[in-house]
Amino acid sequence: MERLSILGATGSIGTSTLDVVSQHPDRYSVYAVTANTNVEKLAGIADAFNAKVAVVADKKLYGSLKEALKAGGCDAKAEAGADCIVGVAEDSHADTVVGAIVGAAGIRSSFAAAKAGKKLLLANKESVVCGGKVLMDLVRNSNALLLPVDSEHNAIFQCLRGATPLMKEKARIILTASGGPFLHRESLEDVTPEEATHHPNWSMGKKITVDSSTMMNKGLEVIEARWLFDVPQDRIEVIIHPQSIIHSMVEFEDNVVMAQLGSPDMRNTVAYCLAYPERINAGVAPLNFAKVRQLTFEEPNLKKFPLLALAYEALDRGGYACIRLNAANELAVEAFLAGKIKYTDIFKICEPMMLSAPSENPKKLEEIIEADEEARILATEFISGFIGE
Ligand code: NAD
Ligand code: MG
Repeated sequence: MERLSILGATGSIGTSTLDVVSQHPDRYSVYAVTANTNVEKLAGIADAFNAKVAVVADKKLYGSLKEALKAGGCDAKAEAGADCIVGVAEDSHADTVVGAIVGAAGIRSSFAAAKAGKKLLLANKESVVCGGKVLMDLVRNSNALLLPVDSEHNAIFQCLRGATPLMKEKARIILTASGGPFLHRESLEDVTPEEATHHPNWSMGKKITVDSSTMMNKGLEVIEARWLFDVPQDRIEVIIHPQSIIHSMVEFEDNVVMAQLGSPDMRNTVAYCLAYPERINAGVAPLNFAKVRQLTFEEPNLKKFPLLALAYEALDRGGYACIRLNAANELAVEAFLAGKIKYTDIFKICEPMMLSAPSENPKKLEEIIEADEEARILATEFISGFIGE
């Protein structure tokens, strides 16, 4: 029986994970679950999965979580605060940690799980974007097993299975992108939060859905792929594939391409990581090729979606530029969703924030956290200039 700690259990990836776990009660049990603020939902999950620990990030909600657990007759231990989430990530009672927190808030726990040598199912791409080489070195040195949950990286991981180091060294990565809801929309000036939070193919949390619509998500994924697979950015290509059936591809030296296909359902990638190196059923319907009918591709329009180009530039500039870009984007998306800034302001905020980053690389976790915190202060100040314009 494999024991899991699910960080971000109340979110979209958390829900997909719990769904797969519930289909395989003979293989997986849940040790701990965490959430940001939704104590009712967290307590419900702890109860349904018989978890031993439930952690809410917001310290002020400790009492409410305790009450919610008690009201449901659940005897899971209540904990509160970001440090307790880190504690859960390294807790020896769990074999596997699912990193499904959204944003840079997930960095510390990803590092903690890696340091503790866990099997780490990592959905929190922001930890890889900000952690970069520092995180990958830690994974290697502590014998952790990092399995990418992000569908593109999961696909690449599958395509690279069995490849020799030399084959990997010469391979090219082709990341597919749906193009999001505005692929063929003329002007993006008047996009509303309502429109930007509806993805044509995937059902996901709000932040990543907005990121998909601006193609910042693909930019973050280029950075993520650079570090996860140790491939320089000039060998990572993005191609628009609106059907989201091919989840990404790898082209080898002989120009033969391996692709991974499936329905756009994150339960597939979670199940793959959970069962690795085996496979288990995720409860996802098989692909019906006759219904899919066609798979199409087009070049990304970098003029219309400049955040994608900005991510490549951040990689060229170094680790601090990636941290800056990530933080600026997180805060800009938050401000956009709150109706404070325009959709097109997201780029206008990210670009100067990224360009003004120090051109070096952070060397340890503390420097990464410090850089993220500093970027948040700068971005908050900068965004205030856009509010009410
Ligand atoms: P979501 O918004 O649905 O869920 C986020 C989870 O994180 C929730 O449980 C929330 O309580 C928790 N959380 C939020 N802020 C927190 C904080 N400050 N401290 C602690 N916990 C906090 O997001 P999601 O769509 O499930 O995405 C989670 C991560 O997975 C993101 O990094 C995203 O990029 C990545 N991802 C998601 C998908 C998807 O299909 N949803 C696909 C690929 C990658
Ligand atoms: Mg993805």
